[in-house]
Amino acid sequence: MAFTPSGEDGLIAQTVRRFITERLQPLEARIDAADQVDRHEIQALKREVMQLGLFGYNMPGDLGGPGLSVTTQCIIDEELGRTTMPLAEAFGHLPGSLRFANVDQRAWLVQPLMRAETTIAYALTEPAAGSDLSAILTRGRKTDSGWVLDGTKHFISAAEDADHVIVLATTDKAAALKGRLTTFIVERGNPGLKILRRFGKMGWRGHPLSELALEDCFVPDSHVLGTPGQGFMAMMGTINNDRLMVAAKCVGIAQACMDLVLPHVRARKTFGQPLASHQAIQFSIADCDVEINAARLLVQQAARLADDVSPDFRIAASRAKLFASEMGGRVADRVLQIFGGAGYMTDLPIERYYRDVRAFRIGEGTSEMQRIQIARDVIERG
Ligand SMILES: Cc1cc2nc3c(=O)[nH]c(=O)nc-3n(C[C@H](O)[C@H](O)[C@H](O)COP(=O)(O)OP(=O)(O)OC[C@H]3O[C@@H](n4cnc5c(N)ncnc54)[C@H](O)[C@@H]3O)c2cc1C
Repeated sequence: MAFTPSGEDGLIAQTVRRFITERLQPLEARIDAADQVDRHEIQALKREVMQLGLFGYNMPGDLGGPGLSVTTQCIIDEELGRTTMPLAEAFGHLPGSLRFANVDQRAWLVQPLMRAETTIAYALTEPAAGSDLSAILTRGRKTDSGWVLDGTKHFISAAEDADHVIVLATTDKAAALKGRLTTFIVERGNPGLKILRRFGKMGWRGHPLSELALEDCFVPDSHVLGTPGQGFMAMMGTINNDRLMVAAKCVGIAQACMDLVLPHVRARKTFGQPLASHQAIQFSIADCDVEINAARLLVQQAARLADDVSPDFRIAASRAKLFASEMGGRVADRVLQIFGGAGYMTDLPIERYYRDVRAFRIGEGTSEMQRIQIARDVIERG
């Protein structure tokens, strides 16, 4: 098993790292402070990433993506962990459920996304349904020519500006409990789609999370993604890939923290000695090093299982997501402490990593949901 990317993967990692260093890092502090991105600026960056052949890097070849292995996608995600959430979007991580797009939808929905002309959000979570999607209340009512949606969604990433929102809804009362949900594509400008508000939040600045309402929101039959009742599968079918992406990003965040702290512990002196010579600091560094490597190995193992289409991938992805997202928090916290006051100030990106990594224990399935899945699997296997 390769521990550091080599060959083509090594070149891709270098390309992504260079783009982040040269094109994205100079923008990070401004966007974080303003908590706002300029759509045109991000679109221009997306076009540059298209020139690199890496835009929509998680999309398969038949959808117009580069068709990379999951192992290679994880290498990219680890690099993307070094930058901010809104800027990582320049690489166009698109919803896996687009695989369910039919021929027509591929033309009017997927192709403009792959050309970076449009953007898309996905809306699963509701005020009364997050971890437990069987509690979804958003309802799709059939009419002669389509569906009418009613409901509220919240914490939806990048929805306020999105050209399309994928909405998960139930079509009859019993359907949700049986996992029969349906995904609808709602277009920007639909009079039944209202952005109610933008949430204030801890991190991910420049990447807005919104609450939105669907009120008598008509969508034609052509805007069902997949078939009615297939929505849960459409959204969950690729959730393990998304979980693994989160895990890889957390490894990237932790590694970026380490890369910043190592020169500091060598250079900074207290009580006449470099920080690096104090045993308490050494122990902290050793714990970070071991945990980062352990998380990276879990990511690589899960990615390999995904590429082998192994049934063990699901739990391997949960394991990687659980460990890496919690590890990322511990490493950012330890590194902030080693920097002392400087770690708390915005001159360095450590406080931002500390804020940003926290969300990964919640999104794409909380730590508790991963523990439930892992425990069930371990206990069932005996
Ligand atoms: C930064 C960020 C971005 C997001 N982006 C999106 C997005 O783009 N689209 C979208 O649809 N959603 C998005 N979400 C929402 C996210 O998916 C949900 O917050 C997440 O699934 C948890 O749901 P919840 O917040 O309703 O918590 P709840 O489900 O109410 O859970 C609350 C707490 O209880 C725990 N818990 C629940 N049930 C159990 C149990 N049986 N046993 C033990 N513990 C339990 C949970 O783990 C959690 O800690 C985003 C969230 C964040 C923070």
